[in-house]
Amino acid sequence: MRFLCTNDDGILAHGLDCLVRAAEQIGDVTVVAPDREQSATSHSLTLHHPLRPVRRGEHRFQVDGTPTDCVMLAVEALMDTRPDFVLSGINHGQNMGEDVLYSGTVSAAMEGLALGIPSVAFSFAGGDLRADIAKLDEQVELLVPLLRHLTSLPAFPEGTLLNVNLPPLRADEIKGIRLTRLGRRVYSNSIQPMQDPWGRKIFWIGGGEISWTGSDDSDFQAIRDGFVSVTPLHLDLTHRDMLETSERWWRAP
Ligand code: MN
Repeated sequence: MRFLCTNDDGILAHGLDCLVRAAEQIGDVTVVAPDREQSATSHSLTLHHPLRPVRRGEHRFQVDGTPTDCVMLAVEALMDTRPDFVLSGINHGQNMGEDVLYSGTVSAAMEGLALGIPSVAFSFAGGDLRADIAKLDEQVELLVPLLRHLTSLPAFPEGTLLNVNLPPLRADEIKGIRLTRLGRRVYSNSIQPMQDPWGRKIFWIGGGEISWTGSDDSDFQAIRDGFVSVTPLHLDLTHRDMLETSERWWRAP
């Protein structure tokens, strides 16, 4: 089993280290990851300057690009053989609901899927990683059987990536694994007005309060209830139900 591991928190991130430790118990791991944090870069691709992979060890490369760049470069140029799976993460922070639209972690898995490779994104839904880092470490042992299960499925769901969120709990506190749908998040006060050193008004996106809504089978509810959340995602954003009602709203001009 050959794994490509990447992330959006950068090659030095502890979550990537945890993911690699878990994957190495099952197969061969190549790491191609951004040289710095690329959180919330979504699925962006670097077109206007070249990418320079720097070898950091056996089968380890850092790239001055986005998570999507890393997956593309790894599969098309750096790896001798295509990976059997792309694993992305473990992100420092949850990727639930609309987060998946901003997330570089999830987008790396999307790029794997776009290249025809089964892909899984992992995120640790802990708010304060410094406080929770021991829990993340403990979950490596829990990740191994989960990874073993996902990678030995007779048919990995076609055209689908799996978005896994891990609850910020000790391994023995986790109640199980739940298959979920995306919830919705509600931000308030997420833009902070400030002054720059010259007294001019600036705005900083971040902070504020996040609350979540969603059905009982949503990702955030699973995390709240102490479960690992696994959400199957596909890249086709077409609203199929609306197509079926097209005669009510669309008349060809
Ligand atoms: Mn991140």
